[in-house]
Amino acid sequence: MSDCIFCRIVEGDIPSTMVHEDDESLAFEDLNPQAPVHVLVIPKRHIVSLADAQEADLSLLGRLMLTCSHVAKQKGLDESGYRVVTNIGRNAGQTVFHLHLHILGGRGFQWPPG
Ligand code: 5GP
Ligand code: ZN
Repeated sequence: MSDCIFCRIVEGDIPSTMVHEDDESLAFEDLNPQAPVHVLVIPKRHIVSLADAQEADLSLLGRLMLTCSHVAKQKGLDESGYRVVTNIGRNAGQTVFHLHLHILGGRGFQWPPG
């Protein structure tokens, strides 16, 4: 059994509220939402973070971005706008070391981020 929480979600060992699935990616509700809409988009295949992505992951990375756009539309965020964030390593506060994109929406966000 994997010791990666998100691999276990992919395998169905840990329950999650799924909002999208395709061959390569999965989107599910964040357990501890930071906005009225907070969805995580992940590759099904384990990649630690964007820093570990390779040239061979080019189309997968494109798929993840398009999944964000698709899910945001599904959640009705395309008019109001939303933010897509990926945290990489210590300074960014990454806590789960399986690449994920946060889709945050339903409220305003500050720039620059904290
Ligand atoms: P990070 O801080 O690594 O960018 O984001 C990790 C995110 O994963 C956090 O927003 C956290 O709430 C979420 N998370 C951690 N464990 C679980 C889990 O078991 N299920 C779900 N749905 N989200 C999780
Ligand atoms: Zn993983």
